[in-house]
Amino acid sequence: MAVTETGHAAAREIDDLYRRHGSEVYRYALAVLGNHADAEDVTQSTFLNAYRSLQQGVHPRKPSSWLLAIASNAIKQRFRQERARPRQVELDDRIADTSAEAVGPTVGEILTALSHIPPQQRQAIVLREFEGRSYKEIAQILTVTVSALETLLFRARRSLADELEHQLTCTDAQFAVSQAADGRLGRKERRRLRVHLEECPDCLRFVQAQKRHRRALRGLALVPIPVSFTLFRGFEGTASAATLPTVGAGTAIAAGTGGA
Ligand SMILES: [Zn+2]
Repeated sequence: MAVTETGHAAAREIDDLYRRHGSEVYRYALAVLGNHADAEDVTQSTFLNAYRSLQQGVHPRKPSSWLLAIASNAIKQRFRQERARPRQVELDDRIADTSAEAVGPTVGEILTALSHIPPQQRQAIVLREFEGRSYKEIAQILTVTVSALETLLFRARRSLADELEHQLTCTDAQFAVSQAADGRLGRKERRRLRVHLEECPDCLRFVQAQKRHRRALRGLALVPIPVSFTLFRGFEGTASAATLPTVGAGTAIAAGTGGA
């Protein structure tokens, strides 16, 4: 009897919590995990675990912090599983589109940078900067002391700045592609470019287009030389060459250099 009543109350409460805090939990998971599929999974298990706790008679005093603490645990579990599989970063168009702000990194660039910093630092900075939570609250959510959190946030900000500073913009990346085509890119730059290309379909398309264009440009070498030009070459070095118009001579020099 009592169990059934608690069960009904729990069902009502979890519905209510989901309506009020669902998007908060989801946004947090998305910012920390970097992709929608994982964020959905974490949101689901968060509310499932919350529901079980409510059924057992738990009454959270601050529902929002309580849910984020549950989400943080679910995220920690994800990271543990993730270590076993290759990292996958999906930059959703819907997020990238909201990044129309003038200067500074785009949302997509921030998410990529975040995905490269350690998970605990990522959680701390997301809770602080995106969610605007207090030190006390974040410390509780992540189960660390306030002074440990201070250090964590400092490291997170430094890592993030470092990542953003070393992150290639698409313009940089495409310039690097151009340099690489001529073998003018160092080992370190090649590595940065490879990292960028793994995460940027636009620049990858640029690379593929470049390959096609290069083939087409090489094809130019096979274009037949006009008869007049061949005849002119025949006069080269003889006295009559000096009597030819300047325009013709200029063409000969340019063509001669190209052929050499
Ligand atoms: Zn790019």
